Amino acid sequence: MPDLWMPGAERLDIGDHAPTDGGPAKAIAHITWDRNATAAKPADLVSFASLRSYFSGSGKAVAPHLLWDPWTGRIAQFVPANSRSKSLVDASGGTRTNRAGSVVIQIEALFFPYCRTPDGKVWPKLADTPCKGWDELHAWVKSWGVPDVWPMGRPFDFTAHRSEAIWEKAAGWYAHAHVPENDHQDPGSWPAFPSNVEDDMTPEQAQELKEIRSLVQFGTWGYKGRGKQDAWAILNNLNTQLTAQTAAIKALAGQLGKDVDTATVVAAVQTAIAEAVVKVDVDITGTQGA
Ligand SMILES: [Zn+2]
Repeated sequence: MPDLWMPGAERLDIGDHAPTDGGPAKAIAHITWDRNATAAKPADLVSFASLRSYFSGSGKAVAPHLLWDPWTGRIAQFVPANSRSKSLVDASGGTRTNRAGSVVIQIEALFFPYCRTPDGKVWPKLADTPCKGWDELHAWVKSWGVPDVWPMGRPFDFTAHRSEAIWEKAAGWYAHAHVPENDHQDPGSWPAFPSNVEDDMTPEQAQELKEIRSLVQFGTWGYKGRGKQDAWAILNNLNTQLTAQTAAIKALAGQLGKDVDTATVVAAVQTAIAEAVVKVDVDITGTQGA
């Protein structure tokens, strides 16, 4: 079993443990949103210490699993991973939001838009902060089976969209703004999963990449990692050979004084190559999974 308490986090057990309901493993992203500031009127960040006291004291009833300070990497944990926490509203009937998964790990990032840190800097978005400790936090959440996906999309603004159908079936990360029965719109932004390039993209960029990929005729080919050439390498080698063979045919035709239609020959050979490469790809894929 993975660690019930995140290694490196301060353990501040509030004692209110209860089992989850099982199902797709989830993580819920929140910001503490303590103050309403604007670009014109920024406000001082509330201290980690005061929120730590709140969630382990009078705010127990809405405590998450983790309180995370993205500037220092400091993390406090209030309940173990296999317990539900209570940062989500759970209306009677329907899904039991705080329990709807094998784990439902909730993270409150210490943040509100246009908060001002002691160095005088103002921060419009969580993702702009140093996000210190994110890699460790993410790794621990992942160790509980939460995959690196946002079933309702990675949050880039404070737009809420909620689908109980997706929530019931899909494992992964959800913004509070994506959870059924809730009306909060946080967190507005969240850091990318480590080493996932696509996740650094805006929704528009991700869509463009998807479209480009759909235009590439053999876009699903990939190197299979079994010490063989990938399909592109095979195709390139065959094309090089084709160019050489075409030149040879032309030379031979010249010697014989015949008029050879090399374009037709080349087209026929290219078709044969494409078919051969598709077959190679299928064969390699078919031997996967040993
Ligand atoms: Zn929230």
